[in-house]
Amino acid sequence: MNKNTIFRAHNFNAGPAALPLEVLQKAQAQFLDFQGVGMSIMEMSHRSKEYEKVHNQTIALLRDLLAIPEDYEVLFLQGGASLQFAMVPMNFLSAGKKAGYVMTGSWSEKAYEEGKKIGDVFQAASAKEGNYRRIPGNDELQYDVDSAYLHITSNNTIFGTEWKTFPDTGSVPLIADMSSDILARPIDVSKFGLIYAGAQKNLGPSGVTVVIIRRSLLETANPNIPTMLRYATHAKNNSLYNTPPVFGIYIMGLVLEWVKEQGGLEAIYQRNQEKAALIYDTIDASKGFYVGHAQIEARSIMNITFRLADEELEKKFLEQAKKAGFVGLAGHRSVGGCRASFYNAVPYESCKALQTFMVEFQKTNA
Ligand SMILES: *Cc1c(COP(=O)(O)O)cnc(C)c1O
Repeated sequence: MNKNTIFRAHNFNAGPAALPLEVLQKAQAQFLDFQGVGMSIMEMSHRSKEYEKVHNQTIALLRDLLAIPEDYEVLFLQGGASLQFAMVPMNFLSAGKKAGYVMTGSWSEKAYEEGKKIGDVFQAASAKEGNYRRIPGNDELQYDVDSAYLHITSNNTIFGTEWKTFPDTGSVPLIADMSSDILARPIDVSKFGLIYAGAQKNLGPSGVTVVIIRRSLLETANPNIPTMLRYATHAKNNSLYNTPPVFGIYIMGLVLEWVKEQGGLEAIYQRNQEKAALIYDTIDASKGFYVGHAQIEARSIMNITFRLADEELEKKFLEQAKKAGFVGLAGHRSVGGCRASFYNAVPYESCKALQTFMVEFQKTNA
């Protein structure tokens, strides 16, 4: 099939989000008959050698791309990032301990609220004042050295902010929700005790959640919780304790191959910066026609949030953008305005087209 004859929208959805066309085409070609087995990957046993190979290759690719150290486990779970909000405290927030949360947006709030149901949690810092426009400085974080962990949200999907440098938490395990920016840039995994991410932004389809966990932290987990909620259960069984989300893992494997073909995380990061700059430069050059929500120092390269002069003009902008073929530009209901999600799979051409549209819209409406 020719790439040029397929209709593909300019997809700026926040999640589920764009997948690379090459990945979808590869999956389509293998859909009815996976590698000569005579069935799709969804129809075969998760204990078959064909599936097992996909499973292990996907783990190996993720290890390779993120340079995950040997003493970390890679797990494929279900329940989304939202279940991790509960699993993290259930496993690591034991009686007599406290866990710190850095509040940088709605997802941090949800993680904190879930932690509160399970144990003793506190806010190590908050950027709520001003509606989450910034990321607290590392010197603002307040927590004891015997805290169970410190939880952060590396990229705030709804507000469009991201951590530029991660805090050095010493002996306190740093736990990060990386749902909306995993694989957007190289990271030093060894700084983290645990990283989790729902797949549907940068990794693949919804239904699979990646967890990367330091083995020494895993060993401290509470064993007296339901089997499926224990990280140890999944680590011991190579994420095959029960039936895994095979299709999601398979597509994620194809996405990881694609990331590797793009040149890995350094190259992806370079491209993501160039893509985001197209819009941020346009906002900055607009003399206030477009106003970015995030503080300049905290701007996310994944989710770009901005407003126009009033809701009337925003409505007009969104309507015309929709007519012009741009999808997913309305801001989250808690912020309003506009949001463009520029995940890895969103092509440069789509970002460039949006920039051109924004410049033209300003010319005719200023
Ligand atoms: C999308 C998102 C979530 C929610 O993920 P689910 O997989 O739907 O539970 C959590 N945290 C962040 C940062 C997100 O972007």
